[in-house]
Amino acid sequence: MNVGVLALQGAFARHVEALTDLGVEAFEVRNQGQLDRCDAIVLPGGESTTMSKLLDTFELAEPLAKMVADGLPTFGTCAGMILLASAISDGRPDQHAFGAIDIDVRRNGYGRQIDSFETDLVIPELGPEPFTAVFIRAPVVEACRGTVQVLASVDGDPVLCRQDSVLVASFHPELTDDRRLHRYFVEQVAGFDVD
Ligand code: GLN
Repeated sequence: MNVGVLALQGAFARHVEALTDLGVEAFEVRNQGQLDRCDAIVLPGGESTTMSKLLDTFELAEPLAKMVADGLPTFGTCAGMILLASAISDGRPDQHAFGAIDIDVRRNGYGRQIDSFETDLVIPELGPEPFTAVFIRAPVVEACRGTVQVLASVDGDPVLCRQDSVLVASFHPELTDDRRLHRYFVEQVAGFDVD
């Protein structure tokens, strides 16, 4: 299975490592040819406004949006989640919201005092052991609609959501050695067996 990680900007390297650990073929995506090889893709954290501009510069915004809309299994983390949302508050008016998952997000919604924090999340889909979630200037999910499933929340706010083939996390699962969420994406969302 080929899993691409969008590598225009941001925290892509650790995602490649996490996926490689699981035994899938993971590679960086910066052009159309690499995008076309993807059976699934990860959109990493970083800066969503910059990533959005770079997607235009590299002429990837349209083909990526189309592939995601056509069902390419996609995992967006933090800035990646923002790119996939239906609506963005406190963003730039020209930044892309692909509308791939029926959620509205507010950029940097956790506020300055708690710019970055770590918390132990219970994610029932991953079993009883808590998952250490690292939040860095994370978006807040302000609305979820339709068939969106909330897989985990912090203080009542969804932080891990899924709708069909799209999984989004407002935290950075690649920053710890816990591979359970990447495994969930590959096995349960993309439907590939890893061992
Ligand atoms: N605040 C960033 C943005 O708006 C996201 C932060 C992150 O990806 N860690 O894009």
